[in-house]
Amino acid sequence: MVERRGRIEWIGGSVVIASGMAGVKVGEVVEVGEEGLIGEVIRLKGEEATIQVYENTAGLKPGEPVVSTGRPLRAELGPGLLNNIFDGIGRPLERIMEEVGPFFTRGVKIPTLDRAKKWHFKPVVKKGDKLGPGDIIGSVQETPTIEHKIMVPPDLKGVVTEIYEGDFTVTDTVCVLDTPDKGKVELKIMQEWPVRVPRPYRVRLPSTEPLITGQRVIDTFFPVAKGGAAAIPGGFGTGKTVMLHQLAKWSDADVVIYVGCGERGNEMCDALTHFPKLTDPRTGKPLMYRTILIANVSNMPVAAREASIYIGITYAEYFRDMGYHVCLVADSTSRWAEALREISGRLEEMPAERGYPAYLPDRIAGFYERAGRVVTLGRPERIGSVTVVGAVSPPGGDFNEPVTQHTMRFIGTFWALDKDLAFSRHFPAIHWLKSYSRYVDTLKRWWSARFKEWEVYRARALKLLEEASKIEETARIIGESALPDEQRLVLLAAELIKEGFLVQSAFHPIDTFCPPEKQVYMLKVLIEFYEKAERLVKAEVPYVKIRDLPAIPLLERMKEKSKAEEIAEIEREAITQLEKLAEEYGVKI
Ligand code: ADP
Repeated sequence: MVERRGRIEWIGGSVVIASGMAGVKVGEVVEVGEEGLIGEVIRLKGEEATIQVYENTAGLKPGEPVVSTGRPLRAELGPGLLNNIFDGIGRPLERIMEEVGPFFTRGVKIPTLDRAKKWHFKPVVKKGDKLGPGDIIGSVQETPTIEHKIMVPPDLKGVVTEIYEGDFTVTDTVCVLDTPDKGKVELKIMQEWPVRVPRPYRVRLPSTEPLITGQRVIDTFFPVAKGGAAAIPGGFGTGKTVMLHQLAKWSDADVVIYVGCGERGNEMCDALTHFPKLTDPRTGKPLMYRTILIANVSNMPVAAREASIYIGITYAEYFRDMGYHVCLVADSTSRWAEALREISGRLEEMPAERGYPAYLPDRIAGFYERAGRVVTLGRPERIGSVTVVGAVSPPGGDFNEPVTQHTMRFIGTFWALDKDLAFSRHFPAIHWLKSYSRYVDTLKRWWSARFKEWEVYRARALKLLEEASKIEETARIIGESALPDEQRLVLLAAELIKEGFLVQSAFHPIDTFCPPEKQVYMLKVLIEFYEKAERLVKAEVPYVKIRDLPAIPLLERMKEKSKAEEIAEIEREAITQLEKLAEEYGVKI
């Protein structure tokens, strides 16, 4: 390759214009300035290239060189990604600290994957085997909880002429393929992939399986499918961080990727200090064994947020290709959108709503479209998924702003965090009237096959909550006690659903995770209690008699029980108390 060398003409924040760049392409990675800062060409005009630089540009001067690499921005893929923390362009933070300290990180060329570390590679193919794209050639035990499948890259096929077992670095050859068009190709443990190109798969599947999170308001009311996309918008203090941690910890994804996309410094710090300490409840081992953290440290410019989003989703697709279910959390996509706005402003592009570039919706769509549940390339046949959860931080909690609005067009589940709920310490503060899930119809079968009442109880509970919100409006005017008893009972039922079902403390040892069967059982108990009570009230039993039953506080605390018998006991107790009332008033229920 001919090295193309231009010179810096102009610098504005993380945007640089260089001359003498004939022949470079948009999307190509360039090294900018004497220190060789990493940048990407985003526009070309004749020989002049506009470059967004992913490292701090302070001190850069016109006249300094710009050297093209001839390659697009790529992610290194292989063992060593899990249990690790990377910066926005895929450099391992710990190694940067070891080698250059915390401050002078510009222009540091440390590859994502450790070149010295040896991994034990166990092949599953033999000489003479005919392999196609995505076929598994062997594996490496990457962490005690995840086996890393080594695959033929998506663009290769051929016959195995050599295959080795033993301890290898990521760049050692472990297999040689005789290919029809490229001759003999050496396969390494690692591969690379251009981050802006979605990795190919064989077939996209419908989203028919839920991502179980153990959070009742999510699983039962606003579920997300494996391979689906969800957004969680919420202002400061609404419990976004706690919720994202709960998802990372409890969702039944095999691999979790957390992209800290330039969120307020202290929040990223929070993730960096918290995550490594979390225990994986399923294995009892560190959660980091199945987690990758990508953190835009504060000395990186806004443009790096863009890189971190694409690198994160590429890592996610790569683990999906192994047949894993991956959950990618991007916190926060609003900061990424702000970066796009800033760069676009520097490019003097025609702004659209609130200064965001006109291509903002395309970028957001492109990101969420990389979620999916697929049959991967290659043999043995496997199904993997990428579920994307994008946190959104709408300024002032206003969901009408462009990032939230565009996001809503491309996601299936919307968990609206509500300031007032958070203020009254109703956590998770996901509002039942403002949130939605478009996956309910496709997930119904999964739930109904296991718990046939799910659909009915879910619908009944949501309806009660809706009815209650209308009645509350009237109650605000005339006072609760002036309402007819039937309406007061609806308010009581809604209160029971809120307190007894929706409120779920992330910090309660038992209630932090609620398995699906317990969710359905709890809802059944609450709905059946209401239905029996409704019959009593219709038969003129005074509402206050029901409100004052000692069973009410028991129902509200049912969630703290771990065993089905304990919940059954509360259920029996509640029904007995209603039956006694019925007897007292000579009513049949
Ligand atoms: P944000 O990230 O939106 O600013 P946090 O996630 O830090 O907010 O939550 C703020 C506080 O709210 C937490 O410190 C905690 O006390 C409380 N909280 C949030 N979510 C929950 C939850 N699911 N269970 C219990 N407490 C919660």
